[in-house]
Amino acid sequence: MQQHKCPGCGATIFTNAAGPSDYRETTVACQYCGSQFTVGNPNYREPHQPQVVNYTYNSTSYTYTDYPGRSSAWKSAGKGQHKFASIAFIILSFIAGLVAALMLLGGFTTEDKQLYGIAAFFGGMAVIFYLGGAASRRELKRRQREGVNY
Ligand SMILES: [Zn+2]
Repeated sequence: MQQHKCPGCGATIFTNAAGPSDYRETTVACQYCGSQFTVGNPNYREPHQPQVVNYTYNSTSYTYTDYPGRSSAWKSAGKGQHKFASIAFIILSFIAGLVAALMLLGGFTTEDKQLYGIAAFFGGMAVIFYLGGAASRRELKRRQREGVNY
């Protein structure tokens, strides 16, 4: 348990504010006035050492082992970058899917078998872009779930 003073209303707040080990701070919402502020994260560890992380959400406890370095660039990417990536990947996925559909259609109408190969290539790209966007959205959801505003 930690004790904080709310900068909004001055109330003393007892929290179990904790976040993943790669975040220096976590966001706390005051239960009296609702204002949000950041506090130091007791789970924070200097990077480059595996770390078992515990956090509680809706009175359920979660534990996972964090391996820094494996995806540190991914995790250290800002919220805006992930938001941009999730949107950009979906647009790219849509464009690639559209090209694939057009090539497929062209293959049907002209019976040019080469177009099927191009369609397959762009179809694959569409899937890769889609998965990339989904991964960014998952990362944003994870941060939201763990109460990290980064
Ligand atoms: Zn307050």
